[in-house]
Amino acid sequence: MKPPICVICGKRFSPGTGDIIYFKETEEVKEWNKKMEREGRVGHPINAEWFCNEHLEQASKLRDLPIQEAMAKLKLIYSSKEN
Ligand SMILES: [Zn+2]
Repeated sequence: MKPPICVICGKRFSPGTGDIIYFKETEEVKEWNKKMEREGRVGHPINAEWFCNEHLEQASKLRDLPIQEAMAKLKLIYSSKEN
């Protein structure tokens, strides 16, 4: 598992001030999970990312999308706000 650093703003947060979001379990994700299980390894889930409290709500609205789509949308939302 990766350390809790928000994937949007890069802020490292303490427990309770952010959370991990699991996005849609696509075929790719299922395959990855099976592979890790087969090999007895534990890794950072490929459909999961950390979000600080500030970005958690927006991210959780997109959790039904595959992570690639959700991240593309989030990046659009937050890059347009910053510029
Ligand atoms: Zn953040």
